[in-house]
Amino acid sequence: MSVQVFGLPVSRGVAIGRAVLVASSRVDVAHYFISPDHVSAEIDRLRRARDGVADELSALKRELPADAPAELSAMLDVHLMLLHDESVIAATKQWVFERHYNAEWALSAQLEVLARQFDEMEDDYLRERKADIEQVVERVLSRLAGQAEDLDPSARPPEQSVEPDGEEPLVLVANDVAPADMLRFKRSVFTGFVTDVGGRNSHTAIVARSMDIPAVVGAREASRLIRQDDWVVIDGDSGVVVVNPSQIVLEEYRFRQRQSELERARLNRLRHTPAITLDGQPIELLANIELPADAGAALESGAVGVGLFRSEFLFMNREGNMPGEDEQFEAYRDAIVAMRGLPVTVRTVDIGADKPLDRMTAQELRHEHALNPALGLRAIRWSLSEPGMFRQQLRAMLRASAFGKLRILVPMVAHLVEIRLTFDALARARQQLDDAGRPYGRVEVGAMIEVPAAAIQIDLFLKHFDFVSIGTNDLIQYTLAIDRADEAVSHLYDPWHPAVLKLVAGSIEAANRAGRAVAVCGEMAGDESFTSLLLAMGLKSFSMHPARIASIKQRVLRADTRRLAALLPEVLRAEDPAAASLEWLG
Ligand code: PEP
Ligand code: MG
Repeated sequence: MSVQVFGLPVSRGVAIGRAVLVASSRVDVAHYFISPDHVSAEIDRLRRARDGVADELSALKRELPADAPAELSAMLDVHLMLLHDESVIAATKQWVFERHYNAEWALSAQLEVLARQFDEMEDDYLRERKADIEQVVERVLSRLAGQAEDLDPSARPPEQSVEPDGEEPLVLVANDVAPADMLRFKRSVFTGFVTDVGGRNSHTAIVARSMDIPAVVGAREASRLIRQDDWVVIDGDSGVVVVNPSQIVLEEYRFRQRQSELERARLNRLRHTPAITLDGQPIELLANIELPADAGAALESGAVGVGLFRSEFLFMNREGNMPGEDEQFEAYRDAIVAMRGLPVTVRTVDIGADKPLDRMTAQELRHEHALNPALGLRAIRWSLSEPGMFRQQLRAMLRASAFGKLRILVPMVAHLVEIRLTFDALARARQQLDDAGRPYGRVEVGAMIEVPAAAIQIDLFLKHFDFVSIGTNDLIQYTLAIDRADEAVSHLYDPWHPAVLKLVAGSIEAANRAGRAVAVCGEMAGDESFTSLLLAMGLKSFSMHPARIASIKQRVLRADTRRLAALLPEVLRAEDPAAASLEWLG
């Protein structure tokens, strides 16, 4: 039966493919149906995993030192007993026999049943045994999964491959995906993705957009309703996900898919056309990248430089090892060399909020820490709290600047003391390089304007920094007090809010007046519904995902900035600027 799920559209286009369900928490459990003639082989696999864990636990027990706490040995006995308990193994086999679930799915399905039974127990002691059963199941799942920690399907052992036959397109379905995992998927086979949670401008959504694949987030029940291998249509324009569509619906979406491919090919022809408005204003269209390898796509798209290199992605998926100075230097230098003399703006790490160093999702983060990570130790606050690490990054950037035009961008600055400490750190980093006799170039230093406090006192920032870049994603989040990763309040995340527009317009105007370069590098820059408005505000530099450059260029080529600027006051005065913009700016 066909079902529809509704979520937030975050990356355009239509994807049609077989669902690959990926569990985002604990062990990555694969869900798929096995063919009836593989039932006994699957049960055998389960038995081997169970026996392997039993051997492991028995060996552990034998090797316990004489002075080990008695509780440890007792716990191992309980775990060994549970491993052979009928309620665990026999019932799991039943799922395989009757439902044809793969072993991991069967085991996690049975864990759900048992966990609920334990929760209902009156006896505290027995209720606490739930943790034991979870640990035992976890061990068996890990053994079944082989490399359980790896979410990348290409790394799975063949017996649990989730690709139907290697030919059909695949779409990723998950409850939530951390930005770090999204990065792994960047070079994967998925042609679309859908998650249950997440906001339109969460970093997971941003990475999906940078992959240029249709995506829907915040589709609440998606991972529960969609089963492994279902046919799924992801409509990244409207946020609709159709599960097992009828032939007629499928044909309609295939038609739309072909249309958008044609449109994309047409826009691509603009790649090398200079972005100049009708009244002769040159407009700079820059790329946002996450890794040096993305520089290729930036050049391909016709970007005239990198306006935002989110360096924190270099720090992810590293099991706690931070990249050292040399490794960072090489990454920044590689980006510069790949951009062939065009400027590259590298942002100092923006760790924290929905971009933790480890693979936690925004949802896990909130539950783990209970506090609101978006208001915590993030970006420049984190860097200043780790001065050694911060100077290391600055030295790496300075050294790379000997190879081309590198600009340093500092995220989330709000206080004068942060400005002072940043420049002190930079001065010390330069001194250290001088002492070591290492060459470095001249760099411009800029600030992200992404906290209302910075936009309100923009003149202070223009006095200290060579340039500013407006981070509308966070500026909206902090102005409207809306967590950008939380789908529950995503309807209130409104880039058109008059307060947001006033802060953006005021910052651009002040920078232009002061003769300082100003860019917008938040998602607004790559959204064509804002192009006329930003041009009207006097913006001449836009930084966005490479895939968005052609569409924005088309808008720029059709715009007359003098006419737009004259209409701006009406839009800024309007109670409903979105409607006013449509009426006046077109
Ligand atoms: C922004 O906040 O607009 C921005 C570009 O930074 P990030 O999305 O990485 O927070
Ligand atoms: Mg930001």
